[in-house]
Formats: sequence, C-alpha cells, structure tokens
Amino acid sequence: MATTETDPRTIDPNLGAQIVADAREHVLYSWSVQSAINPIPVAGAEGRHFWDYDGKRYLDFASQLVNVNIGHQHPKIIQAIKDQADKLCTIGPPMANESRSQLGRMLAEVTPGDLSVSFFTNGGTEANENAVKLARLVTGRHKIIARYRSYHGATHGAVTLTGDPRRWAVEPGMAGVVRAFDPYTYRCPAGHPDPCPVCSGAPHLEEILAYEGAHTVAAIILETVTGTNGIIVPPDGYLQSVREVCDRHGILLILDEVMAGFGRTGKWFACEHWDVVPDILCVAKGINSGYVPLGAMIARGEIIDQVRDRFFPGGLTYAGHPLACASAVASIEAFREEGVVENAAAMGDYFREALGRLQERHPSIGEVRGLGCFWGIELVRDRETKEMLVPFNASGEAAAPVSRVAKAALERGLYLMTHWNVVMVVPPLTITREEAEEGIAILDDVLAIADEYY
Ligand code: PLP
Repeated sequence: MATTETDPRTIDPNLGAQIVADAREHVLYSWSVQSAINPIPVAGAEGRHFWDYDGKRYLDFASQLVNVNIGHQHPKIIQAIKDQADKLCTIGPPMANESRSQLGRMLAEVTPGDLSVSFFTNGGTEANENAVKLARLVTGRHKIIARYRSYHGATHGAVTLTGDPRRWAVEPGMAGVVRAFDPYTYRCPAGHPDPCPVCSGAPHLEEILAYEGAHTVAAIILETVTGTNGIIVPPDGYLQSVREVCDRHGILLILDEVMAGFGRTGKWFACEHWDVVPDILCVAKGINSGYVPLGAMIARGEIIDQVRDRFFPGGLTYAGHPLACASAVASIEAFREEGVVENAAAMGDYFREALGRLQERHPSIGEVRGLGCFWGIELVRDRETKEMLVPFNASGEAAAPVSRVAKAALERGLYLMTHWNVVMVVPPLTITREEAEEGIAILDDVLAIADEYY
C-alpha cells in the first residue's frame, strides 16, 4: 500500500485525540520544549510504515530514532518475544538463562575480531557508561577523549562524553573528559590542508595526548560513523590511524556503534569498512530494533581477561533481560536468513545515486554523505561560502527552514529525522527500491522549500 493511502485498520480519531491530550498533560518528552510537543498518535506499524488513528500512513524514513533496522512488527521477533514470555519473563542478572547466553555467543560470532564478552544494558547510554568504567578499571587511568560532534547518551557520564551542546545542562559533568575535533571534511576545523592533521587522525590526537599526558588517558571514544550530529563518514585511513595512536600509548579504543551498528552502514558493523577492531564496541538500537529495550558493551576477550579476578563495579537489574535477549537472537537470525545487511548495502548504492541526483537539482544541498541506509543531506544558503541554512543553535532542534521541510514531508506521509541543518535518510534496512523511490520523490518536492532561502 502506498504511503498516501488511508489505512482502515485502526481508524478512531477520538481515541487519537485523547491519546495526544493525555501525552501532553502527563508525559514529559525527551529533548523537547514541552509546550511545543505535538506527537503523532501511532495506532500501528508494519514494515517500513506506521499509521495514526485517522488512518494516515507514514513512510518511516527515520526508522523512528534510527533504531528500527529490521522494520516494524517483524513476525519472527514478535513470536520469539511471545515464546520467551511463556517460558520465563524475567530473571535477575546473577542467574544464567538460555536467551542471554545464546545472545552472548551470537554477538561474539557477528562482531569482528575477538570481541567476545558482552555486558548487557537497557540501551546505548548505559553501554557507553560501562565502557568508560571498564576502560578506567583496565588501564588504571582516568581521562577519556571524546569528540565535539558526537552524541553518546543522556545520563550524567554519557552526556558529558557527548560533544554537542546537550552536555551543557550537566556541566561540569563527569570529570576527566577531554575533547577532540572531528574528521568533518566538509567543515574541517583545521581548514583541511593536505595532509590534514585532524582528518588524518594521529597528528591532532598526538598533540592532545602530549598536553594531557598519554599515561593519564584510559580511552578514546568515537562514533565510528557519526550519527545524530550529521552522518559524518570518516575519510579512509582515519580510523586505522586512531587505532595506531591507541596501540602506541596503551589507550583503549571504544567505538560507539549504537546507531551505526547492526547493518546500518551496509556491513554488520561500521568499523568493518576500515578493518579496525575496537577494544570495546557499544551497541543498542539495531541489535533488536528496539522491540524490547536492549544494549550491550562488547569487549575483547583479552581485555576482560585482565580483570577477570577483579570486581566489576557495574550492574543493572534488567541487564540481559530474557525478553530483550530472545528478541535480539531472533533478530540476528532474521538478519542472516533475509540478507538484511546485504539489502542495506545494495540500497546504499541506490541512495548514493538518488541523493546525488537531488543535489544536482537543489542548490540548497551543500553535501550528501553516507553509507548503506545511513545518509545525511546538509543544507546551506550558499554552496560557495557554505553558509548554513540554519545557523548554529544549541538545542540541535531543526529550526525553520529545515523544520518546514520536515513538516511538509510529514504532510505528504514521509517521516524524516532532522538535526540542525541536516536532513537524514535513515530508513529501515529492509526498505524496498519502490519505497525508497517513493520517499525520495517526496523529498525532491519538499526540498524546494529549502531552495527558497538560497
Ligand atoms: N550513542 C549513539 C551514537 C546514539 O546515537 C545514541 C542514541 O541515539 C546513544 C548512544 C544513546 O542510546 P540510548 O538512547 O539507547 O541510551
């Protein structure tokens, strides 16, 4: 069924209105000005679509929060959750249970190198928090290098690691976080000479380490491909260079693939594009497409061996929740059976070409960048000067005119995620060519709004 057609399954406008009224009154929304929230009351979803109580269907070009990698309501995952619920809904972290052990083993199989021991969490934030704990425990050092254009989560420590202004609210935050610049070639803070000290990795990091004292640095944490802050793909060689810096100084490399992992970039994990294995890989979102909250910090066996006889200072009541683990096991099986990662890679070729064509047609597109089903369109007022369409704003919210683009798309039945001046194209990895073409056609129409400001 095409996006614009009405879905008759759950039409009940009064119920929809009541749900929104209750949400406005009784639910505090994340990262929002509460008086401005206007949530869509979602009645149901399937595949790459969801629909509201008026029967209006939306093509989900955002995978919700870039997490529904397999698409909505996958029957195999739903069945696995039901089967697990019948057997055992919950069991504490000190126990062992079948789905938890099975998922631990499967994660060791699908992740690269000797990443083989998982610490389970309820999401990505907690995975990053515990990665920092582990790195500090293993190295006996306290500093963590994190980058500016990054998002690592919402709790005190993770939001301090976060480089974007969302961290301001908790500052001074967690002690020991040191900031580095990003390999953002389009707006390189070093002016991008050849060779570039920032975008090549080592020179910039070595300078930071010289002043900080490499012996005080426990870890460098990076989003392998930056997500929320603009889908930034590092240049070839960057990640290898960071790995070498870490090895030279006994610093652990933590890769945050909460958004970039599980097929999003067209490989199981984004670090595989550059053959780099981190010491700790943090995942969530696509691990089970969010059907039940789940994340994991996955460490190399060799790292864990160094602390096996020591007390690990971390734990969560719901770590390795049986329903979450069962859903992830089913999701990984479905990924393998249905070639989900392969489809993301093939659709990546399509998006590269289709978004490139949009760039030719729309002067307001400054840059198109991405991999697999992970694309960003950066909007500008002037290609020559790269003047941003939306000037820097601390909340990262897409102010007009980017918000106008998203709103117009929504009216046409296309749900888009935007951050600041970047429109993201991040659909479920199972998207078909037909659905992708439908979304791109709507995007083509609504980008005319951005061109008006050019
Ligand atoms: N790290 C990255 C790269 C993310 O994109 C996110 C969420 O968007 C997080 C961490 C936090 O994950 P969660 O919201 O599951 O705690």
